Amino acid sequence: MPNAPDLQIAVLGLGLMGAPIARNLVARGHAVRVWNRDAAKLATVSGATPCTSVADAVADADVAITMLADDAAVHEVTFGSGGLLGALPRGAVHLGMSTVSLAIVSELVKAHASHGQEYIAAPVFGRPDVAAAAKLFVMPGGPAASLERLAPVFAAIGQATFPMATPEQAALAKLAGNFMIAGTLEILSEAFALGEKGGIDPEQLLALVTGTVFGSPVVNRYVPMIARTQFEPAGFALRLGLKDVNLVLAASQQLGLTMPVASVVQQHMVSAVAKGRGEIDIAGVATVVREAAGLGALRR
Ligand code: NAP
Repeated sequence: MPNAPDLQIAVLGLGLMGAPIARNLVARGHAVRVWNRDAAKLATVSGATPCTSVADAVADADVAITMLADDAAVHEVTFGSGGLLGALPRGAVHLGMSTVSLAIVSELVKAHASHGQEYIAAPVFGRPDVAAAAKLFVMPGGPAASLERLAPVFAAIGQATFPMATPEQAALAKLAGNFMIAGTLEILSEAFALGEKGGIDPEQLLALVTGTVFGSPVVNRYVPMIARTQFEPAGFALRLGLKDVNLVLAASQQLGLTMPVASVVQQHMVSAVAKGRGEIDIAGVATVVREAAGLGALRR
């Protein structure tokens, strides 16, 4: 594989995360080809070469990044007709940044190896604004030598990497992290509903939470949304948050442990999606907690 800036990079998936990631790769001088199912989004990455098929995007790629919604999307783009598996050159890397299941990661590792390619998982922490600022936290998982060669890609999009031994462990670390975020949202939602029922101004509680012992990047990010019941526009859609909690529970079954908190969060997210709120921000799980408390989904 050549050194940066000679890497030929394809980015497949230009959603809220994929587009800023592609833009930052372009900004670092990489040759970037982009593909998205909805071709209207191809124009969102100026300086990249727009491609109308996966095969066209990856034909000369050293690295093909997928930043797609879920297992089904990654499966279709990789294994579907005209997909990545048949089109990626031998010796090239499929760098999977989506949050997906342990099962599909294992399937991808095996399938790419059998085609003389390599699958490396590199899920990320950070929302679209963090991606735009090239400040993501990247958890690449795979052989150290492969991660070393991919270092210029990680440097272009993130502020730090946390290497994992295998792609499966990278996927699991991401799920563990997203469980902590989802659990935090549940706790914040319940705490703010409790305060509001007792007549505390949510702005006062917000100041208390962020200004004392509770503040953290995750808490500080989500507390204003929950206190002010502002869940649009979504930076991370609730339907994708539910997808991740489902993946956490699937991993817990696979690995043999109970995660009761995850089950509670899952139930509330299922309710939110069933009420038509799948496209609001993940913090909108608070609407269900509020309704159960008789507060109404949003503060008026
Ligand atoms: P998004 O804005 O909803 O974008 C999803 C992308 O997947 C779009 O490019 C979409 O294409 C594509 N897609 C969906 N189904 C497809 C299919 N069957 N075939 C081909 N393409 C398909 O989601 P996002 O927020 O960027 O998230 C992408 C991934 O990153 C997810 O796994 C998410 O969990 C993870 N993640 C998100 C965040 C965040 O804060 N948003 C943070 C870290 C990780 P179309 O444009 O054609 O619909």
